[in-house]
Amino acid sequence: MTFSTITQYLLKIGRKIRLAAQVYVCLAALFISVLSSMPASAQNSLTAMRLGNVDIDGQMALRLVVETAVPQQAKMLLLSDPWRLVLDYEDMEWAVAGLPSSGQLSYLPAVGYRFGHPKPGSGRLVIELARPASPERAFTLPPKDNGHRLVIDLMDRGEISFKLAQKALANGAFEAVSGTSIQNSVPAVVPVPAKQASPSTSPNNAAASSRPVTLGVPQSRPKRWVVAIDAGHGGKDPGAIGKRGTHEKKITLAAAKQLAAHLNATGKIKAKLVRSGDRYLKLRQRIQVARDMGADAFISLHADSAQRSSARGISVFSLSDKASDKEAAYLAARENKADLIGGPDLGAEDPLAANALLGMFQRETMNESAHLARAILNEIKGFPGGDKRGHRFAGFAVLKSPDVPSVLVEMGFLSNVDDEKNLNSSRYRDKLTKQIAKALVVWLERSGR
Ligand SMILES: [Zn+2]
Repeated sequence: MTFSTITQYLLKIGRKIRLAAQVYVCLAALFISVLSSMPASAQNSLTAMRLGNVDIDGQMALRLVVETAVPQQAKMLLLSDPWRLVLDYEDMEWAVAGLPSSGQLSYLPAVGYRFGHPKPGSGRLVIELARPASPERAFTLPPKDNGHRLVIDLMDRGEISFKLAQKALANGAFEAVSGTSIQNSVPAVVPVPAKQASPSTSPNNAAASSRPVTLGVPQSRPKRWVVAIDAGHGGKDPGAIGKRGTHEKKITLAAAKQLAAHLNATGKIKAKLVRSGDRYLKLRQRIQVARDMGADAFISLHADSAQRSSARGISVFSLSDKASDKEAAYLAARENKADLIGGPDLGAEDPLAANALLGMFQRETMNESAHLARAILNEIKGFPGGDKRGHRFAGFAVLKSPDVPSVLVEMGFLSNVDDEKNLNSSRYRDKLTKQIAKALVVWLERSGR
């Protein structure tokens, strides 16, 4: 049996058991080698590397399995120009029997690999990619035949997704979500071999031909965090209309300006308004504006209305696939309708919608958003509903930024006479936005952004 017949055979088996989802690990492929090697001088050795295909939600992903003699944390990075997946280890030796430390791969999107030592006491595996494939998931498996396996599934979801994944890895999203032993701390400058070393080149020579490549990650924290404040509705979309005729869009803009003033006064935050006038913006545009601003957080301000005029109080929302309660689901559906007011969208496919599928990266942003929502609730306990309505979840379209933690504050009900009166009071809004500003500072300082 040749390698290619083994591969085809495994692929066939793979198709059969694809329904068994994650059970078939390392199903197909390019059996490079599984043999452990001679004792190396380094503390750890990379003993096997395998590639295969795996089905994720009906789409074919590339699976990379790396085995090491001793369990060890790897730092995962994505680099571009050309696209590469990088695994950095400490004190690792290449010890895959019968396989040189670099070579070509014909397992798209993987086209090549190389192993080297960018600095003494290190070990770096680089997988070259023909397309911007990024990790969908990664996990470790219990040791088998003394090999400690790290499994990474990569999928090409386009360049924007790749960049987001790159950034998420740099921010340590991977560790938090995967729950594996992978840790991500990204060096500002990552040396990689300038060109593929020939198979006979020793790892040290590969390192010698290194050149620095700068990642698209800020090298130092900006002096001031950027918070995007989104005043809900605007222009031809008035939002909810109060008992006494108050337009939600006016309240939200007034509150947004007050919140901006409080944030700027801290000296730690640069507040930027998504809309500063009576202007209609689609929800997707609001997300885009915030991302273009390089926002560290996005806060959307609204004022609710309900059929029951007794309903009142503040709610803080973050994104979720499932709404926390019926009312939240209904509210999100209502707020999302703001997009319909502008007429049908004839634009091309929504890139953000595709990116929303970014699984673990989106989930990490959702986790951060939930923390931010709780930080706000902590500061507004003294306001009507602040201690009751609490943190809720729903599928608000405006909160779907894949990489900017986002929350939505319903500051009260315009359908309630007392809330409407409060929200029309500049003094009340000032007190409320001051507390929200306080929460943002607390959260930003804690988040380590
Ligand atoms: Zn609204």
